Amino acid sequence: MDDLEKMIYPPVKARLDEVFVEDEPVGISRRKFLEVLVNLGGMALLAKAGGLFEGLPESGQKPIPSGLAAELTGIADAGPNIVLPHEYSEMETPELANMVIEYHQKEKLHIASEQELTNLELASQGKPVPTDYHVYYGGEPQYTYLNPLTLGPVLVASDIGLKPTLLRLTTGGHIKKSRHYIGKAVDVDLNTEVFRCFYELWQQGDMYITNELIIEPVPAGTQTLYHGEPHDYSASIRENHKSHIHRSTEDRDG
Ligand SMILES: [Zn+2]
Repeated sequence: MDDLEKMIYPPVKARLDEVFVEDEPVGISRRKFLEVLVNLGGMALLAKAGGLFEGLPESGQKPIPSGLAAELTGIADAGPNIVLPHEYSEMETPELANMVIEYHQKEKLHIASEQELTNLELASQGKPVPTDYHVYYGGEPQYTYLNPLTLGPVLVASDIGLKPTLLRLTTGGHIKKSRHYIGKAVDVDLNTEVFRCFYELWQQGDMYITNELIIEPVPAGTQTLYHGEPHDYSASIRENHKSHIHRSTEDRDG
């Protein structure tokens, strides 16, 4: 599978597989059609394009509808108006942790640390995971359950082809009261599109109940968040988020 194929949002891919049984069955090659999709609008288009496949002819028929490219262009030009997957917000940690591991194996995302991979395996069995709190602040090793709303958005970013790198959940050095140490925060690699995806999830009803969302510099047209509200962070906090995106969450029941 080449890079282009990897960028396709799964429902779109499924429809693509139905229509393009052979390489040139409908007057345009699968490869060419992928290029059209990817070039026209990246993430926004890919997430929305699923419905447009309704207009495509069945395999073996010609030609591809002439209005389709114009329609795709219109959607791309309209900007981010996509409905991102929110079904993960209703799932529990073991199932989600299992999916994160599976996505890592399929290279839809990358888990950067062996310790986090081990911790996710524990979480997939319904167990609490160790934190690095004692490494930095002393005392006995501490354990926490991973919050499911922390994992969901990472899967969403993976689904739309952004291939995020999961850096830290409960490991690493953070401020003493960090939500990382209570299983409610994730750090991912610095990727503006992933930040936009997380921000978009907040805008679209915030099903994943955002607390903090931090990146530096802040991408145009977005804001950093604190307690689920736009917030300007201090210079030192901003400085600390030039290397990664930090996202934390609230509990479902408040
Ligand atoms: Zn963090």
